[in-house]
Amino acid sequence: MFSALLIEKDEAGRRVAVAALDEERLPEGDVTVDVAYSTLNYKDALAITGASPVVRKFPMVPGIDFAGTVTASGHPDHRPGDSVVLNGWGVGESHWGGLAQRARVNGDWLVPLPTAFTARQAMAIGTAGYTASLCVDALLAYGTRPDQGEVLVTGATGGVGSVAIALLSRAGFQVAAVTGKPSEADYLHALGATTVLDRAAFAEAGKPLQKERWAAVVDTAGSHILANACAQIRYGGAVAACGLAQGMDFPASVAPFILRGVSLLGVDSVMAPKARRLTAWERLSRDLDAAALESIAREVPLAEAIDAAAGFLDGKIRGRIVVDVN
Ligand code: NDP
Repeated sequence: MFSALLIEKDEAGRRVAVAALDEERLPEGDVTVDVAYSTLNYKDALAITGASPVVRKFPMVPGIDFAGTVTASGHPDHRPGDSVVLNGWGVGESHWGGLAQRARVNGDWLVPLPTAFTARQAMAIGTAGYTASLCVDALLAYGTRPDQGEVLVTGATGGVGSVAIALLSRAGFQVAAVTGKPSEADYLHALGATTVLDRAAFAEAGKPLQKERWAAVVDTAGSHILANACAQIRYGGAVAACGLAQGMDFPASVAPFILRGVSLLGVDSVMAPKARRLTAWERLSRDLDAAALESIAREVPLAEAIDAAAGFLDGKIRGRIVVDVN
């Protein structure tokens, strides 16, 4: 038996609780993992609260990421005792996920736990941090360089935003952080932000072309914030767009793209190919120090994950929440 968060939905309604499950109920997969830590990401909050139809099969164990130790494997890349990390691939949405003491998955979905990190540290980074690293990789591959000007990060105190600031700062960029929590300015400066801006200035509809301010943007918000950010990108700059914290809409004009040659770089972490994942984790191993991680993360036990999830929906969470499943 093992403990897991279980989301059930039937005629009686929708329920989420910690349940004791028989290992025989684990889904198909060629690798079984003893999970050490999982986390709460924005998507997990949507799944646990039911605020958005993230979960596509019931009953479902949520948790889009985990770090742990392989206990059984029929996959050539993984042996019992190996430390592994999983991000995405529909785990926690259509395949039982990481908010559990045990998981069974397709071995192709796993990457080795980077030697720089403990399982807890890898989950302090989690899918949010790995996505931030994918965003930085996208901007650097595009050709963004520190001498081109400041990079704007939206949703700055969130999981993706916090790690993006730390990584960009380490890569030599001046970073401007947009936040709805001005009281967290010290936290953002400590992560490496040079400027902290009030989200209110970005959150409403603005002109299609505004003063050119940013060499590039990492956007976790979508909607008006993404539209205003695009309208402020300097000639030839780019935005790595990965999130929808403000909204899924994009109420913008094509003006920045056709008049300033701005590029919109979409970033998806769920189905990203393995090579891109490994590069993103390499950057995290190299550039994210333990002190920054400690300031970003706090820990909750499995039983408290349900209450903690609710905090994401009103934007109150700062940084990352690690879940100790044991
Ligand atoms: P968090 O909840 O940790 O952070 C989101 C941040 O956005 C908040 O901390 C807040 O920061 C800001 N925010 C909250 N509500 C609003 C609002 N109504 N309008 C504008 N800003 C708001 O989430 P994550 O960092 O984990 O994820 C951020 C986004 O990225 C989410 O939309 C998530 O779904 C997406 N994502 C996408 C991935 C992909 O593969 N493309 C992978 C991972 C995440 P502040 O108060 O500082 O403004």
